[in-house]
This record gives sequence, C-alpha cells and structure tokens, in this order.
Amino acid sequence: MDFKLSQEQQLLCDEARKLSVEVFKDRAARWDAGSEVPWDNIKILAKQGYFGLLIPEQYGGTGGSIMDLVLVLEQFAWSCCSTALYVFSSNVHANRIAQLGDERQRTQYLPGIASGKVLPAHGMSEPQAGSDAKRMRTSATLSGGSYLVNGGKCWISRGAVAQLFLIDVVFKDGEQREHGMLLIERDTPGFKTGKVEPLMGHRGSPSTELIFTDCRVPQENRMAGGNMQAALTAMSLSRCANAAMALGAAQRAYDEAVEYVQQREAFGKHLSDFQGLRWMVAEMQIKLEAARLLIYRAATNATEGFPSAMEAAIAKAYVNEAALSVASDAMQLFGANGLSTSFPMERIYRDIRAFGIAGGTSQIQKNLIARTAIGRRKY
Ligand SMILES: Cc1cc2nc3c(=O)[nH]c(=O)nc-3n(C[C@H](O)[C@H](O)[C@H](O)COP(=O)(O)OP(=O)(O)OC[C@H]3O[C@@H](n4cnc5c(N)ncnc54)[C@H](O)[C@@H]3O)c2cc1C
Repeated sequence: MDFKLSQEQQLLCDEARKLSVEVFKDRAARWDAGSEVPWDNIKILAKQGYFGLLIPEQYGGTGGSIMDLVLVLEQFAWSCCSTALYVFSSNVHANRIAQLGDERQRTQYLPGIASGKVLPAHGMSEPQAGSDAKRMRTSATLSGGSYLVNGGKCWISRGAVAQLFLIDVVFKDGEQREHGMLLIERDTPGFKTGKVEPLMGHRGSPSTELIFTDCRVPQENRMAGGNMQAALTAMSLSRCANAAMALGAAQRAYDEAVEYVQQREAFGKHLSDFQGLRWMVAEMQIKLEAARLLIYRAATNATEGFPSAMEAAIAKAYVNEAALSVASDAMQLFGANGLSTSFPMERIYRDIRAFGIAGGTSQIQKNLIARTAIGRRKY
C-alpha cells in the first residue's frame, strides 16, 4: 500500500491548486452572493480540459482516473464549491454515458461534454421520490419509434444551464414497468425547465424543476445499461466525488482557522495559545486526514468505471459529517467574524451542508452500509 501521490498526480494537483488559489478564490463570494453561474471560471476550465478528465481520449477527453478527478475537485472546492460542481457534473455524467451508454451515444455526446460546450445534468429526484428513488413516476412509453416522456423532476443541479439531461424514467410497455435512463437534449419539444429553487448552498449551480409533457425522445437515446441497478451503481462515483468536494471546502475552513487563531488575541495571548482551542484544531485535522484516506481508498480501488458502492457510501457518510463538523468548529474559532459575509466561513459552511443531502443523504449511505453488515430489515 502506498499513501503517496504519483509524480503525475502531484503535478495535476499542483496545477489545479494554482488555478484555484490564483483565479477562483477571490471570485467565489460573487457567484454565491448573486446566485450567479460562474461562467468566467467555466470558460477557463473548458479551455484547460478539466471537463474531459475522465472521458477517454478517443472521445476528446484526457482519459484520467477517478483518483485524478477527486484530486482536482478537492482543490477547486477549496476555493469555490460552485465552480467545482461543474467539473463534477461534466465528468461524473460523462462517465455514466461512457460506461452505460452505447457507441453511438458515446460518439455523439462525449466530445461536446469534454470541450465544455455541452453541460450535462442528471435528473432522478421527483417531489414524491427522493431517497426512495424507486417511487419515481416520470414515464416513457414507446410510440411510433420514439418514447413519449411525461412527468417531472425536481432539485436538478445545473438544470437551468445544462444542454443534455440524463433522466431516470419508468419505461412502460403495456402492463410491464422497467426503470431506465434516457438522454434528452434541452431543445426537445415537450421539455422545459421550471423555477430555479433558491438554496442556502451551491448557489452558483442553480437547481431547477424539469417538466416533460408528451416529450418525444428518439428510441436510440435509451441508455442500454441504464437500468435501476446500474443507476444506483453509478451513484457511487458521484458520492465519492461529492465527498472530495466537501473535503476540499472543509480543508479551506481549517486552513483559514489555523491562520486566524495565530493572529487573533484575547486575554493577553493568541487564541492558538489556549489548550482547548489547540485540541479543537488537532481534532479538525484528524477528521480531515481520515476523510482524505476514505476518499482516496474508494477512488483508487475503483474498477470497471465506478468505485465500490460500499466504499463510496462509507466515504460520503463520514466525510459529509466530518466536513460539517470541521466547518462548524472553524466558524466557532472565528467568533462573530465566522458569521459575517465579509469572511468565507459562512459560505463554506452553507456549501458543505448541501453536500450532505445532494447525491443521497447520510442516512441512506448508512442504510447501504448496514445492509451489507447485518442484512435487510425483516418486516
Ligand atoms: C444541493 C442539492 C442538489 C441536488 N441535485 C440533484 C440532482 O442534480 N439530481 C437529482 O436527481 N437530485 C438532486 N438533489 C436531490 C437529492 O438527491 C435529494 O434531496 C435526496 O436524495 C433526498 O431526498 P429528499 O430531499 O426527497 O428527502 P427524503 O427522501 O424525503 O428524506 C427526508 C429525510 O428522511 C431521511 N430518510 C428517508 N428515507 C430514510 C430511510 N429509509 N432510513 C433513514 N432515513 C431516511 C433522509 O435521510 C432525510 O433526512 C439535490 C439536492 C440538493 C439539496
């Protein structure tokens, strides 16, 4: 077992870090305050190839690994979660097409995503079906060589700006019902996006409703490997990547706090001289290091395009909670300044809070872990 990054991984990390610190850091508050899409950053990321990190070279990407992706997400989220989320979605959704789609779908959609011209979004959640995704109702019925899609999705990240939508549906064929996935382009007649939901975090990545009314989708846009089991397997990558962003944001909170306690004075000494606060910092660091190891383990062990469901669930459940605890302690160390929008702490806290719901809640990760450990509950 080797805990060191390879030379290439270290270089990738250093380059992402440089961009994050030199360009994204000072802009982050702007996207958050105005709930603005970080277009300036998106253009840079597209030009530098970050949207095609996981996409195989023959489809215009750089054919990197899941470990490469988590390393850069950690660095970008250190400065700006809203920006990191665009790198997350392009790579995670492209990977789903690469792994579960057919050759025509790969050829048609991956080059656009790799170049940053096509931003993808994934729609699974519905008003009555969040954690319990199997309750989804959005249906696709075969009619004259295409599917008629009816229903609606909610909370869809980047739905307001995406051009390509990976939509989980129930395929209906007479009495038969089967869960699966369709690729739906933005300008398809019968499809529109609804209101943007104002959220406390991830504000540069607008979440929207998607509405399908007799939306006609070509039959060949059904993803062959997109059944419910495959969809849930594919969630393991988004969970691992979600954890990497929460970690990056928490690392920033920690870095800011360590600097702050060494400057701020109270009762004639620096905050960093109070033993109770020193232990707080030590505990924050322990959580960050443990979080990092869980994410890196899930990423490096990934096979056949996805991390293991168990390792990704353990990483997400632990990291989401550890990151929130680190951010909360960092705010505490900042005193009133921690709550002020003049400092980054409250934004970081809000962004980290959102990671614990998006991509499946902590409780759902723990259900998955417990199911493996002690089996299903008997009713
Ligand atoms: C910032 C953000 C971005 C999102 N982006 C997307 C997206 O791009 N695409 C998409 O499809 N969805 C997206 N979502 C939706 C997200 O996936 C759901 O919110 C999430 O799965 C939880 O569903 P819910 O909100 O309906 O909560 P519910 O399922 O109603 O759960 C409510 C509470 O009950 C708990 N709970 C539910 N079932 C159980 C159980 N069996 N055991 C124990 N506890 C349980 C949950 O953990 C939670 O605490 C996003 C959400 C957020 C906040």
